Amino acid sequence: MPQGYDKPHPYRKPYSLANAARDDMLVVMRCNCCHKTIAYVATDLVDLVTNPDQDALKPVFPCSRCQTGQYMRVTLRSVAPGDYGHLLVRRPAEVVSVQKWRTVRLGDDTKPRSASRSRFEQYLDEVPPEEPN
Ligand SMILES: [Zn+2]
Repeated sequence: MPQGYDKPHPYRKPYSLANAARDDMLVVMRCNCCHKTIAYVATDLVDLVTNPDQDALKPVFPCSRCQTGQYMRVTLRSVAPGDYGHLLVRRPAEVVSVQKWRTVRLGDDTKPRSASRSRFEQYLDEVPPEEPN
């Protein structure tokens, strides 16, 4: 890729992900390494990113197969009437929390502070402090 190919225009504001969501665009991400293509709804992505004003043509995720965003190419397109009922898009599903486990020596205080506090410490948090007379 030639130097400066991905540089933004010096005077033009980039088309942001928030703009794409406002215009009900589809964000199509293609990995040019493994040729995997996934379409996302821009309104779904704008809820996930920390900066909705980021350039809409920058990949939000790395490729799930290659684990890199180096070869990702992002294009935007509007929804065509023929897309309904036919086009496959990735939408957010339920959020799953995972309990991780680790092996430690018995007695090692490696739990987070809130979980390892004694019942007395928890009791002190529940009782309001006495007001001075
Ligand atoms: Zn890939």
